[in-house]
Amino acid sequence: MAADAKAKTATKKRTTATAKKKKAAAADSPFRNFAPYKPKRNEEYMSEGQLAHLRAMLSAWRTDLMEEVDRTVNHMQDEAANFPDPADRATQEEEFSIELRTRDRERKLIKKIDSTIERLDQDDYGYCETCGIEIGLRRLEARPTATQCVDCKALDEIKERQLHG
Ligand SMILES: [Zn+2]
Repeated sequence: MAADAKAKTATKKRTTATAKKKKAAAADSPFRNFAPYKPKRNEEYMSEGQLAHLRAMLSAWRTDLMEEVDRTVNHMQDEAANFPDPADRATQEEEFSIELRTRDRERKLIKKIDSTIERLDQDDYGYCETCGIEIGLRRLEARPTATQCVDCKALDEIKERQLHG
C-alpha cells in the first residue's frame, strides 16, 4: 500500500513534468480541437453527422496515444544508461517501471478505442450496454469510449467498491 501510494505520487510528478515539456499544455483533453457537436433541429440521435463527429474524435485520440507510446519508447532508449551508483540505478529503474505502466495503460486504451470504432462501424454505438437507453451525445463527447449510461456506470462503480473494498 505504501509502495503503491509512492508510485502514485511519482506518476503525478512525472505527468506534471511531461506536461510542462509539451508546448500545448497536455492537461488539455485529447479533444481540445473538437467543438461540441450542434445537432440540427429534429436531428435523430446517432445520426450520420454525430457518428462522423465521434469517429473523428476517437481517431484523433488514437493518433495522440500512438504518438505518446512512441515518445515513451524513444525516451527510454535515450535515457537508458548504466549508472555506477546503485541509488541512481534504482531511481532510473523506478522511472522506467512507471513509464512502462503508462505505456501499458495507453496500449489498453488504444485497444478500447479500436473496439469502440468497430462498434461504431457496426451501428452498435451510443446506447447503454446494460439498460439500452441512449448514452447521450454530450457524455459521448466527453468520453467517446463509454459503453454505459451515467446511471449504470455509477451503479457498477458502487458494486465494484463493495466487492473490492
Ligand atoms: Zn444504462
